[in-house]
Amino acid sequence: MSTYKLPKKLCNELDGVVIRFLWSPKKLSNKCYTLMAWKDLCLPFEQGGLGFRSYESFNETMIAKLAWGACKLVGSEDSILVWNKPWIPGLPNFKPVPKASLDIIPCLTVTQLMNEAKSHWNQNMLSSLFDQDTILAIQNIPRWRVNQQDRWIWLKTYTREFSVKSAFRKACQVDLGIEVNAVMKKIWQTQLHQRLKMLLWRIAAGVLPTSDSLIRFLPNLEISCPFCNVCDESLIHLLWECSITRAIWFGLSGICSDHFQLACSVDLVKVIVFPCADLIDALDVDSFILKGALILDLLWKARNNKVHGKGFLEAGKLMLDFGRIWRDHSAILKTPSINNGADHRTVKWEHPHDGVFKINCDVAVGYHFSSIAVVARDWRENMVFAFTRKVNTIIPLQVEVEAIIWAGHLVIFHGFSAVIIETDCRQCV
Ligand SMILES: [Zn+2]
Repeated sequence: MSTYKLPKKLCNELDGVVIRFLWSPKKLSNKCYTLMAWKDLCLPFEQGGLGFRSYESFNETMIAKLAWGACKLVGSEDSILVWNKPWIPGLPNFKPVPKASLDIIPCLTVTQLMNEAKSHWNQNMLSSLFDQDTILAIQNIPRWRVNQQDRWIWLKTYTREFSVKSAFRKACQVDLGIEVNAVMKKIWQTQLHQRLKMLLWRIAAGVLPTSDSLIRFLPNLEISCPFCNVCDESLIHLLWECSITRAIWFGLSGICSDHFQLACSVDLVKVIVFPCADLIDALDVDSFILKGALILDLLWKARNNKVHGKGFLEAGKLMLDFGRIWRDHSAILKTPSINNGADHRTVKWEHPHDGVFKINCDVAVGYHFSSIAVVARDWRENMVFAFTRKVNTIIPLQVEVEAIIWAGHLVIFHGFSAVIIETDCRQCV
């Protein structure tokens, strides 16, 4: 792929595999409803896409990389041919322009343009061969070390190392003029779970399969709102303007959604990810974003349950269930306003007395499982062992206790006689 141009048909077929997986992962048939054009999905995250790489552009990127950004770094070897290799940053294609009416010697190497010690350029030689711009550009080449190797460098990254990402960005340069979409960018910067980020993106991009967007593909679709059965279902109506939805927003977060006139679905996500100060109330911003995203998730799930599942909606039960969901998620967020019992002050590690081992326990609470880590050091601060493992609980206190119990087992296994077990969870102590 980095050497040959792939046929367009093959690239399209490969793109098709990704598209089918994205929109219809469970179905084998070729037919799927695509609510967003492939070229828009290939835009970077901050421009509203999902950063997919179309095979054709990617193939072109790989092939054209030498012309865009790869250049020979001049050393004191004689591997660079003056007229054939790209070696002068700042010139088109990094190649020199000969002086008018010059007879070019094809095998001339760059080291032959240097003085005998290979420490500086031979100015007379430069003047006799190149036009003025080329001479200036050559003189701007950073000084090489004697015995430095000639090698390829990539001028599009700070480190001068080639990266496919930088080459692909270069290939998509046509898109860089598009105004960076602050809302889209913010979605991916939040501390939310990837699933909730994806939900916010789908709302902002207008690709949730509500009736008003599916009607293009399914003309006989029932389009009334499944919550109120009064208005037509649109994304904004369902998640913000419907009377049932308004009650849920107010009941769960105190937000009066009728105070906000939303022009498009991006505005809805904007209210959540860039909340105004009086909306946040007692929460910090991260907790507010989490709560807003969870309410949207709750509404979308309730809608799908009503349309595809049980066929009824109990707003009161939904709101009761939300209390549990909110507690679980906010505990994981570990924001300062939510104390899960762990003391997160930075505490300096203190030496135990001679002959005593010290075990430190730490945990990372996840959405589906958690990880615990146990590190043992001796009184000289030498590490004796460090282990991590997965535990099947997401309740923070339980995870902390699991870590301490595991530390106890490891102490017995290693036969330590004098031990201190240290945890940052106050409730466990
Ligand atoms: Zn409604």
